[in-house]
Amino acid sequence: MSVPGTPRHADPAHHPSSFPASGPARPVAIDSVTLGPFATNCYIVRVEGSKGCWIIDAGYEPRELIEQVRARSLTPRAVILTHAHCDHIAGLREVLAAYPKTPVWVHRAERDWLADPELNLSTFIGVPVTAPKPDHLLDGGETLELDGSRWRVLHTPGHSPGGITLVNDAAHTAIVGDTLFNRSIGRTDFPGCDAAALVRSIRTQLYNLPPRTRVLPGHGPETTIGEEMGGNPFVPAA
Ligand SMILES: [Zn+2]
Ligand SMILES: [Zn+2]
Repeated sequence: MSVPGTPRHADPAHHPSSFPASGPARPVAIDSVTLGPFATNCYIVRVEGSKGCWIIDAGYEPRELIEQVRARSLTPRAVILTHAHCDHIAGLREVLAAYPKTPVWVHRAERDWLADPELNLSTFIGVPVTAPKPDHLLDGGETLELDGSRWRVLHTPGHSPGGITLVNDAAHTAIVGDTLFNRSIGRTDFPGCDAAALVRSIRTQLYNLPPRTRVLPGHGPETTIGEEMGGNPFVPAA
């Protein structure tokens, strides 16, 4: 995490990247795994030629996610949560059992949600979900590094107060959680949702990204910023 005044690799044991950035950038590779009854898209992010990875979200029934990490002989450097609704955290315990001590990152506004079935909405589904406390809190504005790839953290609230988007400018890729979907947007009828904030996050942050930017959402097929600006029925470009 690079924040002003903080040495970039002061705490390598808790840093989500495995090596300092060096040499020419290598391509980023992202595998999508769709998990559980809510068909949550979870992502395995890595850099070609490196064995570190990030796990973005851990949905219900995460075995396939763990198996893909294992099949590629990857070592998770971090689990980064786009937000802490239960369909994005229900598999966290199993992932952490498979890869103990992997640090978990979440936005500060949802720091208590992992341990609270009402906040993470699992109470309403009938089977309470809890997960260990996060190790690191995000505010938005940080840049995280994985094996030389750089990811900006945008705070994109609305669907939930601590929703984040991870943007890799070099790879023209944004992992957006449940903020923006292919021709749709995140629900705003849950406790903690803010419909006006969601529209603002999409208009002022996501639609500011280059149109060619790949959008990898928390549910459903991928899209691009340009396609959504032109065709999203809920949030047309202003
Ligand atoms: Zn959600
Ligand atoms: Zn979701």
